[in-house]
Amino acid sequence: MSGDTRLLLVDGKQVPAADGRTLTVLDPSDGTAFAQVALAGAADVDQAVAAARAAFVSPEWARMRAADRGRILYRIAEAIRYQGERLARLESQDVGKPLSQAKADVEAAARYFEFYAGVADKLGGTTIPLGPGLIDYTVREPIGVSGQIIPFNYPLQNTARGSAPALAAGCTVVLKPSPEAPITPLEIGRIALECGLPPGVLNVVPGDGETGAALAGHPDIDQVTFTGSVPTGIKVAQAAAANVVPSVTELGGKSPIVVFADADFDLALTAILGASFSNAGQMCSAGTRLLLQRGAEEFLERLVEKIATLRVGPGLTDPDIGPLVAARQRDRVLGYLDLARQEGAVARIGGGAPSDPALADGYYVEPTVLTGLTNQARCAREEIFGPVVTVIEFDDADEALEIANDSPYGLASYIWTRDIDKAMRLAEGIRAGQVYVNATGIGTGVELPFGGYKHSGWGREKGLEALASYTQTKNVCIGFGSRT
Ligand code: NAD
Repeated sequence: MSGDTRLLLVDGKQVPAADGRTLTVLDPSDGTAFAQVALAGAADVDQAVAAARAAFVSPEWARMRAADRGRILYRIAEAIRYQGERLARLESQDVGKPLSQAKADVEAAARYFEFYAGVADKLGGTTIPLGPGLIDYTVREPIGVSGQIIPFNYPLQNTARGSAPALAAGCTVVLKPSPEAPITPLEIGRIALECGLPPGVLNVVPGDGETGAALAGHPDIDQVTFTGSVPTGIKVAQAAAANVVPSVTELGGKSPIVVFADADFDLALTAILGASFSNAGQMCSAGTRLLLQRGAEEFLERLVEKIATLRVGPGLTDPDIGPLVAARQRDRVLGYLDLARQEGAVARIGGGAPSDPALADGYYVEPTVLTGLTNQARCAREEIFGPVVTVIEFDDADEALEIANDSPYGLASYIWTRDIDKAMRLAEGIRAGQVYVNATGIGTGVELPFGGYKHSGWGREKGLEALASYTQTKNVCIGFGSRT
């Protein structure tokens, strides 16, 4: 383990937890201790919220011109890129993700700050015609203190995804990272300070579920942005509602990839490896139900052949598949693979932990493709959150649509066909927040609104739509002159 304990970031200062607690972060590639981090409790959340409240009304932030806020965000974007190599290595070691994927996350984090930097001075209102002697206009004001709770799988990206639009709008933020991935959120907080963000505007308090509950239910926050699982999301939304505070919930998924027999198989294969197996499948938007048209069996053969070439190994060696974030996550996925066998599944490839003794101490799971399950199997309905894809066959577009929508989730969907009618029929009918048709090369897509239908949550992050969560509209109506 290297270095001292990494401290909380509260009011621009690095501080230990009030009760002195720390947590040990493990390197998922071999289970060794990688870092020591201060573990925030309710008292630290109180301090961070008080700092964020004071910063929200301080002239330094509240009276800063929007263009100047934007300029600070630009500087943060540039500093993230400048320190990208170091940040990527930290992210890779903390979460286990392959180094090149961690580098892509660095670029995504920079893009969030860059994108919202350009928006800060464009958040104007409207005028509304009411007739002679009256002028009516709206002002978009920052909502206040935003409490943000993020999961373990994309700490860099999720820190930037929530905090950049909030800061652009003039809010202040208390961010609670996952105890399994607290390192880079603290780094972003430190970088933001160095780039001129006033103290208290962005506070970072790594902690566990209790810490998260203290933040979500805190009486002095004005808004909550939560990213994580459905059960936790429900608790967070209830806690926020009890204080009449709005929440954004970005939750899980069981997203369909629909491959018709007429699809461009080469493109679709490459895209599926990314959409299903990046980050060892620990993605909310992972395509985990492969809906394959009968007659397209060649596609499955080719997919299995491609997966057989994927290299599994420690994130820092830049393999195709790294370890899962923690032993509990690996055990959860292996438990689902046992369940799949009980449900009658056949693993066409993978199906367990790798046999390579060099990987025995890490939290690895083989990339796996399951056949023989229907869409009613638990493994086809529940979020496994690992490198596991379930194949389900269909005959025509109507059946594909029915199966795609037969899910409690509605986060993303991926359609592969050369037939515009089939593509549009599915794009129109799918109940999900994201539909990608033959889409590759969209990069990080920070410009696009992102969020779920059904149990995948509510509200939208990313793109211009995210700003709706961090602003509220004030209507000003003024009468003038004689109106008799
Ligand atoms: P999780 O729900 O276990 O934890 C998420 C965060 O909530 C963590 O910071 C955790 O410490 C905190 N938390 C736990 N209990 C809490 C409570 N009672 N009150 C407040 N906070 C609490 O999720 P996870 O295992 O870290 O992440 C995986 C989940 O996140 C998956 O379901 C995945 O689909 C989802 N996810 C969604 C998106 C999206 O944009 N929709 C993105 C990434 C991950």
